[in-house]
Amino acid sequence: MLAKQGFIKYIIQIMNELELLIDLHKDNDRQGPGSDTETRKALMLAGLDHSASLKIADIGCGTGSASLLLADLLPNADITAVDFLPGFLDVLRMRAEQRGLSNRIHPAAHSMDDLPFEEAQFDLIWSEGAIYNMGFEEGIQYWSRFLKPGGILAVSEITWLTDSRPTELKEHWQKEYPEIDPASAKMKILEKHGCSPVGYFVLPENCWIEHYYTPLQNRFKKFLADHNHSDKAQEIITNEEFEIGLYKKYKAFYSYGFYIAEKI
Ligand code: SAH
Repeated sequence: MLAKQGFIKYIIQIMNELELLIDLHKDNDRQGPGSDTETRKALMLAGLDHSASLKIADIGCGTGSASLLLADLLPNADITAVDFLPGFLDVLRMRAEQRGLSNRIHPAAHSMDDLPFEEAQFDLIWSEGAIYNMGFEEGIQYWSRFLKPGGILAVSEITWLTDSRPTELKEHWQKEYPEIDPASAKMKILEKHGCSPVGYFVLPENCWIEHYYTPLQNRFKKFLADHNHSDKAQEIITNEEFEIGLYKKYKAFYSYGFYIAEKI
């Protein structure tokens, strides 16, 4: 009984933390580093026929920065926008309606590692700043089955930019996401799972600072006030500030890489 109560308390804590994270992030255009310019660049490298009736999944879509732009750029595409946080999908739904795109963007609340799709259903699987939640290799292996042969996977993933790196940084990422690796290792994983790389580039600094961290920092004060400076809210901001400081100090060593690959 005690153990069960402990478990329920733990679940409630996680839910409260998720609510805080949704509140901190949902009014920003994006929930991770990126920009419209780089999304366009990745789409260009995908080499798809923009007028085709493409079936697309945007996995870990957040409030839909990529889904909305893809729907704008691909006038006959149909986009399933997946995230496990309904709070983000509600914002996406509203944005799609405002832009007259709700007939072609379908928000769907699922966990990225348990998707109700059929094999070979999609022409394009898109995912910006999200695959790390299940791990790059597991994500590539699992998601690629939903692509048609010749379909395209376009995924951004945290990547080492240099051959060696400072110990402090190495230790941080070893703790946070040990799968961080150079692009060559990520490409090997793509090839191992039947996806042949057709394009790669690194997200520039403005994707982190101008399009992600600065709008996020602009919310900190109000976020803390709205949550009465609770310990949990304060802890979230402290973690964000640490992450921002780390990026500013070590941006020469890591960024998101954008990987575009064709399913064989
Ligand atoms: N692609 C968006 C959001 C990136 S942030 C953008 O670039 O702005 C990562 C997203 O992954 C968040 O929206 C988070 O809710 C979602 N996410 C995290 N774990 C998930 C899971 N297991 N299943 C589905 N979505 C998940």
